[in-house]
Amino acid sequence: QVAEWRKLRDEATVSKDGVHVELAANIGTPNDVAGVLDNGGEAVGLYRTEFLYMGRDELPSEDVQFNAYKTVLEKMAGKPVVVRTLDIGGDKELPYLVLPKEMNPFLGFRAIRLCLDRQDIFRTQLRALLRASVYGELRVMFPMIATLGEFREAKAVLMEEKEKLVAEGVSVSDNIQLGIMVEIPSTAVLADQFAKEVDFFSIGTNDLIQYTMAADRMNERVSYLYQPYNPSILRLVKMVIDAAHKEGKWAGMCGEMAGDATAIPLLLGLGLDEFSMSASSILPARSQIAKLSKAEMQELATKALDMQTAEQVVELVNAIQA
Ligand code: PEP
Ligand code: MG
Repeated sequence: QVAEWRKLRDEATVSKDGVHVELAANIGTPNDVAGVLDNGGEAVGLYRTEFLYMGRDELPSEDVQFNAYKTVLEKMAGKPVVVRTLDIGGDKELPYLVLPKEMNPFLGFRAIRLCLDRQDIFRTQLRALLRASVYGELRVMFPMIATLGEFREAKAVLMEEKEKLVAEGVSVSDNIQLGIMVEIPSTAVLADQFAKEVDFFSIGTNDLIQYTMAADRMNERVSYLYQPYNPSILRLVKMVIDAAHKEGKWAGMCGEMAGDATAIPLLLGLGLDEFSMSASSILPARSQIAKLSKAEMQELATKALDMQTAEQVVELVNAIQA
C-alpha cells in the first residue's frame, strides 16, 4: 500500500470522475516544509505561526518572523502558502505575555481578539508577512473571526501596513489572498455575507465542533459530544462551502476532519475545494479520492445531511467503503 501511495507523490489529486481537489498540509515551523513536499503536498493550507512565539522569552522581532515566512514561501516554490496570524490565548499561553486568568479561556481573549487589541503585536506580524509576500504565493488568514466587523478591522490594519511599506519603498505582492478561519458558528451561519468580502474560507473543525456542540475539545468527560459526523456539523460545513462557491471563492478545511478517511467522502460530496491535513495523511487521502466518484459522493452527502445522528452518518459512509 505504501508503494502505491508513493507513486501518487507527484500526481494531482483527482476523483474517479475527474474532479480535481487540492491536498495541502498543516505545518508549525519552516522545518516541516520538507515533509510536505516529500508527501506530495500541493500547498500549505495552514501555517500555525504560534510556534514562532513559543519557546522564547520575548516576542519574535519583525525580522525573525520575516525570515521564517520567507523560508517557507521559498521552499514551497510558488505553491500556495496559507499563513494564519497569531492564534494565542485559550490553551496556548506565552510566558512573556501575561494575561488575566479567565473563567473560560476558550471563550475568552484570544487569537484575533487579542491581536486587534494588541495591535503592536499584530502589526509586526503583518509587516513581516507583507515583506515576505514577494517570495512566493502568500495567503493570509485570520483565526477565530466571529463577526464581519472583526474581519473588516483586521483587513484595514493589514491594508494600512501595506500602504506604509509601499510608501517606504518596500515591495509587496499585489496578489495576496485574504481569508478567514471558519471555526465559530456565527461565522458559518453568516458565511454568505462573509463570502462577499473574503477571498477564501478555511473551516477549522477542531474549534467549530467544540463551539457548535458546546463540548471542550480537551475534556475527556464530554468527548462523546465531540462529533465530526454529527449532521449539524455537516450542515454548517455545507453552508460555508455553498456560500463560498456562490461568490466564486474557494473553501478549504484545515481541522483534523479534513484528513479523516470517514469524512473525506462526505467532504468531497459537499464540494470542498482544499483539504489541509498533516503531511503524512496526504498520500493516503489522494489514493482514497482517486477511487471515489464526486457525483456519487454528492448523493451520499445529501443523504448524510438528512440523518439524525453521527452514528447513522458513519454507517452510511462505511457501507460505501466496505
Ligand atoms: C481548528 O480549529 O480546526 C484549527 C485548525 O485550528 P487549531 O487546531 O490550531 O485551533
Ligand atoms: Mg482553531
